[in-house]
Amino acid sequence: MNSSMIGKIEKAHRYAKEPERVRIHSLESTFHGGHDDHTVGLKDGQWHCSCHAFSSHAVGTCAHVMALQQMLFRMLSEDDRYSGDSLAYSPAAAPLAS
Ligand SMILES: [Zn+2]
Repeated sequence: MNSSMIGKIEKAHRYAKEPERVRIHSLESTFHGGHDDHTVGLKDGQWHCSCHAFSSHAVGTCAHVMALQQMLFRMLSEDDRYSGDSLAYSPAAAPLAS
């Protein structure tokens, strides 16, 4: 392996520890829920989930969306970190690590 590739790999290791460098604008994922798989995603600032709770509660969120918001917190914009009403993930519950 040449030295320039080694340098890139070292840089990648450093970057991987700094998720705040990355801003996720859209994504599509399969979430293995307790009973079923759900399609969860973010598009144009709107979260969506294929689960029953998301479509039936009209709060714009569900456990799967909230879980992804926690997992990806440092890579999401301020707006995308939260969705729906006060049921959504709150910063008081888990302050942003600095
Ligand atoms: Zn869901």
